[in-house]
Amino acid sequence: MKIIRAKHLGMCFGVRDAIAIAQAAAREEPVTVLGQLVHNATVVERMTEAGVRFSDHPEDVDTGRGLITAHGASERFRRRAEALGLKITDTTCPLVTSAHRALHGLVAEGYHPVVVGRRDHVEVRGLTEDLREFDVVIDAADIERLPSRSRFGVCSQTTQPIARVMELVERMRCRFRDSEVRFIDTVCQPTKQRQQSAVEVAARADVVIVVGGRNSNNTAELTETCRQFCECVHQVTGPGELNADWFENVRTAGLTAGTSTPDDVIAAVERRMSEMATNRRFATRD
Ligand code: SF4
Repeated sequence: MKIIRAKHLGMCFGVRDAIAIAQAAAREEPVTVLGQLVHNATVVERMTEAGVRFSDHPEDVDTGRGLITAHGASERFRRRAEALGLKITDTTCPLVTSAHRALHGLVAEGYHPVVVGRRDHVEVRGLTEDLREFDVVIDAADIERLPSRSRFGVCSQTTQPIARVMELVERMRCRFRDSEVRFIDTVCQPTKQRQQSAVEVAARADVVIVVGGRNSNNTAELTETCRQFCECVHQVTGPGELNADWFENVRTAGLTAGTSTPDDVIAAVERRMSEMATNRRFATRD
């Protein structure tokens, strides 16, 4: 069995930087991450062991310092945390900050803001919480439900597949032919690279393994994208979830991982895939 690794996979610079900042802060003083720093249980477990605490609500924090995650936060959320006396360390990814700027810029120019993304995702909440009115869309049905406006300003959650975003923008333009639909592409480059690499791998593989946290949006999106190009796709959080039966009669297996998956977890999954293939005596590793 040949294993093809996606050219771009795993942890992005935004997540790496946020983890490094949190660990450095925790060495100085007790620190609580406000929300999930990354949507990956392994990373959260390791950071907890390193003394970093986690809380979804600033009101529950009993450390002097709170940390805003790579997913960013609204001004309203920051003010709420500061009003509670928390000193804030901000690890918002610069590409999330760009998305905030783009969306708020559109609002300032008089466009009605529309975000392509998942309404309950922390990044989308951060993007929209300061807005008086906005819409969040994720599929064609949401576009059908949108009330008409003369000017729409569209951005997206940074981890949405660009193909979906472009399709929804096109639908808006078709549905609201008399309106202006201005789109600013805020999907981040690491997401685009991982999505593109996943497509390349899935198109060549008999089975694809996607490594990432169960609650990681970008991992789920990678899995969904791979399923469009390969019939057999499995998402796992680590090597323990691999099943040797998945590699029965498989000549080519693809491997990719979400932006919050640590390198050593990906390597462990790849090793285990090789061992399973070797045990079945058809390994031809490239
Ligand atoms: S997925 Fe993109 S926007 Fe999110 S932290 Fe990584 S680089 Fe930044």
